[in-house]
Amino acid sequence: MCSDPGFEGSTLTKLLLVEDEAAIADTVVYALEESRFSVKWCQLGREALHYLQNSGDVALVILDVGLPDGSGFDVCKAIRHFSEVPIIFLTARGEELDRVIGLEIGGDDYVTKPFSPRELVSRVKVILKRVLPQSEPAPGSNTISAPLTEFTIDEQRACILLQGHSLELTRYEFLILQLLLSQPERVFTRDQIMNAVWVQPETSLDRAVDSHIKSLRSKLRQVQPNREYIKTHRGLGYSIGNYRRES
Ligand code: CA
Repeated sequence: MCSDPGFEGSTLTKLLLVEDEAAIADTVVYALEESRFSVKWCQLGREALHYLQNSGDVALVILDVGLPDGSGFDVCKAIRHFSEVPIIFLTARGEELDRVIGLEIGGDDYVTKPFSPRELVSRVKVILKRVLPQSEPAPGSNTISAPLTEFTIDEQRACILLQGHSLELTRYEFLILQLLLSQPERVFTRDQIMNAVWVQPETSLDRAVDSHIKSLRSKLRQVQPNREYIKTHRGLGYSIGNYRRES
């Protein structure tokens, strides 16, 4: 029995299943749809690639290793040329090597046949919970990622250290960074940041959040130039995480 990691599928969350055996595909599609995912099923690798290249909204791919028109590994490699979409392999029993290869070439997880559809659904939810921002986490839910250990918050002295270096922060910068660090990877909207940080949010402009974030970023870069800790989610807000800096 698998524990439910709590990711709520929605009909907006579209998954791509690449599996040539109709009987397996049927049970998988049924289980995923029961969990409120929308599923596109392809029987061939080339069909799946074509679909992925022409549809930008696939959240995750479930990919059989043994396909009639080639190996799922080759399909995975081809996908990685243009997409970072999470991939779960379906591998045959006992093919230990397959699992290792699968993860090395860019797969995110694997499930060994025969598997229970529940187990697969559970793996899907774990991965999606990791990669997709949840707009409103359930009350009391824990953060979905490990805390950012390079940051130390000294609440008594109202200061935050990055890798042991004390950051010279204004009051707002401190409060914003503290808020983001309370739930790494969670996307906070400007309104949420404002309501949590400002004394009189209604008198402040959204742009104020942006400008504090901007100066916060430059202070973090002074200590750690190779990381972009604060990520902008266009039209949504900001999150903190250990992101690689895009040049
Ligand atoms: Ca197969």
